[in-house]
Amino acid sequence: MHDESNPGEAWGLDTLAIRTGHHRTAEQEHGEPIFPTSSFVYESAAEAARKFGGEEAGNVYSRFTNPTVQTFERRLAALEGGERCVATSSGMAAILSTALALLQAGDEIVASRSLFGSTVSLFDKYLGKFGITTRYVELSSLDDWEAALTPSTRLLFAETPSNPLSEVADIPALADLSRRHDAWLAIDNCFLTPALQRPLELGADLVIHSATKYLDGQGRAVGGAVVGPDKALEEVFGVVRTCGPCLSPFNAWIFTKGLETLGLRMKAHCANARRLAEWLESHPAVERVHYSGLPSHPQHALAARQQNDFGAVLGVEVRGGREGAWSVIDATRMLSITGNLGDVKTTITHPATTTHGRLSDDQKIAAGIREGLIRIAVGLEDIADIQADLARGLDALA
Ligand SMILES: *Cc1c(COP(=O)(O)O)cnc(C)c1O
Repeated sequence: MHDESNPGEAWGLDTLAIRTGHHRTAEQEHGEPIFPTSSFVYESAAEAARKFGGEEAGNVYSRFTNPTVQTFERRLAALEGGERCVATSSGMAAILSTALALLQAGDEIVASRSLFGSTVSLFDKYLGKFGITTRYVELSSLDDWEAALTPSTRLLFAETPSNPLSEVADIPALADLSRRHDAWLAIDNCFLTPALQRPLELGADLVIHSATKYLDGQGRAVGGAVVGPDKALEEVFGVVRTCGPCLSPFNAWIFTKGLETLGLRMKAHCANARRLAEWLESHPAVERVHYSGLPSHPQHALAARQQNDFGAVLGVEVRGGREGAWSVIDATRMLSITGNLGDVKTTITHPATTTHGRLSDDQKIAAGIREGLIRIAVGLEDIADIQADLARGLDALA
């Protein structure tokens, strides 16, 4: 009988996404089951004692382990090429659990300046309270990273490509730097997923996910995950089982089924994004398109080297500053005006007044978040309809 958790051969990504993780039960189900149970029962007091004491493997309580959650964890670990995955209640919970597991008071984080807004708040406002400090550097400048490292640096943290300007970090170079300083390198792989980028193969120690985005892919559930080596993940697991940011079995099931079409969806997302980026770049009302898939992008070559494709999030600067950007957004009838991404539905947002609205004017300038900038997370509708929806506002602006 084949063991789906241990293929024993080098399966391709789509096969791993469909065939790994599920340990079939005595019911011989074909589809992955959902175990909506908070606790598990035993044949005897002695068995309960062994399971609680950790002398015997097995389920105790769904804050610790749940078979549906473990199916998702094994499948995502296989896709990222990591020894172990721990699922969490959200992407933010994945980042918090990683920090609690690996850091202590006095430690320092060096992170890229262009990070998800809540990640910056987590580092500054909350980890800061407990004596962990964070320095921010230019994502694409290796010199900047190197200069910010001190003997207290324990964690390097980056999102690549960045949101919404599609800047790219050189992962192997950062991995080399972190190894020389005996620090961990964690990559938030939310924008590309293992279908397009495998940070562990490029030398990173840990991969962080907001499963809320492309792993689900259809905007249904909030969740997260951390993937990496057993030793570090055992610490992350300890945080999750003790502090409680565990993933619900139902959400884990949604993500497990989402992973089955991940490869297919990401190809289609990228194809739509490339066509939209090329069309936008030639539009007279557009001043600049930030997308690492365009040859005009300053890091196109690096992105092509370490990524399988370029993702589906575009930064588009239009004429007329905030007024111009808002007029293009308000002229859409189909696109969803929302800050979310990683959905089959195309979303559009004005970063300067939404996702990056809490930044000061100086911080916005440093981060390249101009008033004329629009972010489009390209979905899977027909490309002609996405274009037509944007053309309405852009043509009026041209
Ligand atoms: C959404 C997001 C997060 C946070 O994930 P949640 O699931 O919303 O908690 C972290 N990093 C990036 C890059 C994101 O886009």
